[in-house]
Amino acid sequence: MRIGGLTPLTTIDFPGRLAAVVFCQGCPWRCGYCHNTELLDAGAPTAHTWAGVERLLHARRGLLDGVVFSGGEPTLQAALPDALARVRALGFATGLHTAGMYPERLAALLPLLDWVGLDIKAPLLRYDAITRTPGSGAKAWESLRHVLVSGVAYECRTTWNTGLYGEDDLLALAGALAAEGVRHWALQECRTQGAPAWAAPRRIAQHWPGTLTVRRA
Ligand code: SF4
Repeated sequence: MRIGGLTPLTTIDFPGRLAAVVFCQGCPWRCGYCHNTELLDAGAPTAHTWAGVERLLHARRGLLDGVVFSGGEPTLQAALPDALARVRALGFATGLHTAGMYPERLAALLPLLDWVGLDIKAPLLRYDAITRTPGSGAKAWESLRHVLVSGVAYECRTTWNTGLYGEDDLLALAGALAAEGVRHWALQECRTQGAPAWAAPRRIAQHWPGTLTVRRA
């Protein structure tokens, strides 16, 4: 694994678990709002090794329950299945944050996972402008279907503001997610401090057929 960062303990990145976060190096997409740009270059030098991750896990046995792989894009790396199997063999639950860019790889990984946080960034028509990558939306939505049929616990995640796409598109996204069978959705609104609240998230919350978490950043 190429590991760009390691957080020894998080209470917020793997629901219900005290977890370590392994930040995987490399992502081929180029979202304008990416918060981890230092992790995008797959060939950049890294400060961590898989042996170091295992040392941490041995030292934290009994204190941690899980390990979540984040990024960057973890499914970029061919070593991820072995890493997940190794984490489980050490007695920890496995979690994954992914943008769903490799649906077949994700489908193969699902039996090794206890939880998936899947970014669904936009309705299909708006996707490629956000990721600056042609065909990205079709990949992400295909990944969503794999997650839903797998029965693995999941959360769909969307970062949104009206600079990305409008409220009508957000309402359309909510309808499309609900129609696919999504019941666990986290909507992260990026609104400047003091700006008036948008109406669409409130309208969605009134009708959403499952768990909706609206976070403000
Ligand atoms: S998919 Fe995620 S890691 Fe990759 S550029 Fe977009 S926000 Fe950043």
